[in-house]
Amino acid sequence: MPAPKPWTLDDSSELYNLQGWGLNYFAINAKGHVVVQPKKVAEGAIDVMDVIEDVSSRNIKMPVLIRFQDILRRRVALINESFAAAIAEHGYGGRYFGVYPIKVNQLREVVEEIGDAGRPFQFGLEAGSKGELLAVLALNPSEALTIVNGYKDESMMRLAALGLKIGRKVVVVIEKLSELELLLSAAREGGVKPLIGLRVKLQTQGSGKWRSSSGHFAKFGLTTPEILGVVETLKAEGLSDCLKLVHFHVGSQVCDIRTIKDAVKEGARYYAKLRKMGLGVEYLDCGGGLGVDYDGTHTAVDSSMNYSLREYVADVVYSVQEVCKQEKVPEPHLVTESGRSMVAHHALLVANIFGAIETGTSPVDLREGADEHQVVRELREALKDLTPKNIAESFHDGQQHLEEAFSLFKLGYLGLEDKAKVENLYWKLCLEIGKLLPKAKFVSEDLLEMQKALNDQYLCNFSVFQSLPDSWAINQIFPIMPLHRLAEEPLRRASVVDITCDSDGKITNFAAHRKAGGTLPVHALDGSPYYLGFFLMGAYQATMGDIHNLFGRVNEVHVFKDEDEPKGYYIEETIQGQTIRDVLSQIQYSDYELVKRIKEAADSQVKAGALKPREAAEIVDRYEAVLSEYTYVDHLPTADENKGAPSHGAQPATPGKPTEPVAP
Ligand SMILES: *Cc1c(COP(=O)(O)O)cnc(C)c1O
Repeated sequence: MPAPKPWTLDDSSELYNLQGWGLNYFAINAKGHVVVQPKKVAEGAIDVMDVIEDVSSRNIKMPVLIRFQDILRRRVALINESFAAAIAEHGYGGRYFGVYPIKVNQLREVVEEIGDAGRPFQFGLEAGSKGELLAVLALNPSEALTIVNGYKDESMMRLAALGLKIGRKVVVVIEKLSELELLLSAAREGGVKPLIGLRVKLQTQGSGKWRSSSGHFAKFGLTTPEILGVVETLKAEGLSDCLKLVHFHVGSQVCDIRTIKDAVKEGARYYAKLRKMGLGVEYLDCGGGLGVDYDGTHTAVDSSMNYSLREYVADVVYSVQEVCKQEKVPEPHLVTESGRSMVAHHALLVANIFGAIETGTSPVDLREGADEHQVVRELREALKDLTPKNIAESFHDGQQHLEEAFSLFKLGYLGLEDKAKVENLYWKLCLEIGKLLPKAKFVSEDLLEMQKALNDQYLCNFSVFQSLPDSWAINQIFPIMPLHRLAEEPLRRASVVDITCDSDGKITNFAAHRKAGGTLPVHALDGSPYYLGFFLMGAYQATMGDIHNLFGRVNEVHVFKDEDEPKGYYIEETIQGQTIRDVLSQIQYSDYELVKRIKEAADSQVKAGALKPREAAEIVDRYEAVLSEYTYVDHLPTADENKGAPSHGAQPATPGKPTEPVAP
């Protein structure tokens, strides 16, 4: 047999499918660290481990969300440049006026960075609520479009009219017939001419998880009779020239390019027909939906997409042009409301692994003894007699002995020590079977299940509910991989569990490395810090997260490339995550009240003579100090903890069977 080839950086890159989902924004350097390269070339790449070191030296605790602002800027430039190129290439008669829907990531620094990068292109903003509109009216310049979607009340319409009065190009998209009257009266009252958009309900259904955003029963949009109603009203009021924009949106993360083409063609027909009816429509707004390839497979599945940004742009331009040619109408200016594709790539969540729940280890010595229970001896035998030929039989014997032991324990016939031995021997048997499985000719379903249970669980210092809400809520896949040690083969297989007390607080579904049986290939913990990166976190996660178990918003740093700096970047800004006090106050606990009650309790102990006054004061101080702490685990692993970690949670369950069989 030839000697196995040594593990290379390319092997790591392939294993984690970095090229597949990373769009070349991420790579691995000679040190085996993940680097970020906003320009998609190795030159000027930022070593993520440098940033982590920098962050730790500033005493900013894990987990930390790192925003690579240069990537954000590149995404904005890219969609604008791509449209400009496709428009030039096709000799298209309109221009591109994209907007960024701030609901996708509303953080002021993100919106401002997009605004700044988009200024040369008159890239605008979209708002879907009053709160968002207040922000957008203030931030968006008057040359760019301000698009208003969502349900609107009178106050929101007045706000839109106010925007027009200060020179903003505010297009209010009518999603419900009743909104038209509200808009017209707000405009009348403000003495301005409204800029009106119509959201049409397409027959084309989106693809992917958000397919229900379109179609006849969608929540938003006007039916054809309703559109005619709007036209009639506008004509009657002499406002035909105020209808400026036709809008549609087939849902987010459209995974199949055919859906995009179909929707654009259908939307373009509405534009063309309205134009022919004498309305002054100038813009066709194709909404959002431009996908992100989270799993890197380039396929039409929920977590992926079977097209590129360039292909999307080319198809939009070409499809609209075709329809306009047939209909003999001028080509409209093109608008898109891409959110996810603009912001997903720039944000990276870094969290440390602070331990592993290893299956089958024991912190105490469980040596063979003379007076062991029969069931212990039988399991020992099963382990001794295991051969590659009797795998299945041995496994079933092991399961039977385990169940027997549970029954005996329940009935009082088995001591704790013997029960511990049984559990230990059972896992040892499973581990040995696991080693033999690759050689087995046939592996049954229950053995596969058992093998999964053998994987480690890596304890990761984050909350799925706060930082990856879509992973929990809709099973969205995000690329996850170690940020260092990538020159080394990751020999362990693990799932990732968070620090909430919720059994849902874990990730067991990983992108791309399906070969690893749905687990994450990781390195064995060696006592030094081990960091995992959660990639493509920039879209939708921030404000959807919740404070389950009172884990709050995480620390953030904003990184900019700078070739003059020794490490090629600088940290422009840090945003402190929430303290425990912050999250408590969010749910109505006043720190003042809490401290007062602790003080009262301590004082009464002093009165009773159980505490000295100085001790009572120290207790109150300690309590107060914790209120100011970060909500996450403040703990880096010791070598000891990382090796034979105490195996809580390693209670063996017989796979596919109830844990505790009913006593006979
Ligand atoms: C959410 C939303 C968007 C953004 O969609 P992405 O798929 O993130 O680009 C755009 N337009 C409307 C109307 C939306 O509701």
